[in-house]
Amino acid sequence: MEFVDRLLTCADCGGEFIFTAGEQLFFFDKQFKNDPKRCKPCKSKRAGASLRPGAGPAAAGLSRTETRTHCSECGIETTVPFKPTQGRPVLCRQCFQSKRAPAVAAATAELVAADRAPVSSELIAAAAQAPQA
Ligand SMILES: [Zn+2]
Ligand SMILES: [Zn+2]
Repeated sequence: MEFVDRLLTCADCGGEFIFTAGEQLFFFDKQFKNDPKRCKPCKSKRAGASLRPGAGPAAAGLSRTETRTHCSECGIETTVPFKPTQGRPVLCRQCFQSKRAPAVAAATAELVAADRAPVSSELIAAAAQAPQA
């Protein structure tokens, strides 16, 4: 089966866009019955709108695996972006920070204070999953 580029009209903005031979092959492969309805900008706009505001793919991935647990140091409830392994200590951000070298703590302090802490979350995960010395 031969495919040639086709010109389609976007249902959202009414602009014309090219349904390329490659894309048609992809649709054919996936057995999609309908032609694409929207141009790429409109499609990505809709995909972006369905995400929570300010939540990038990384943030969405983190919140999916967020686990509620208690800090094994001070006992307060905290959430960690990974499944705690049994027998491994889980630290809240504060305790985790106090155990890190001051340089690292200083570098991540601002992020932690803002409670976004993507850097320190990764560090927590790395520390928790690293074999104990
Ligand atoms: Zn469009
Ligand atoms: Zn703690």
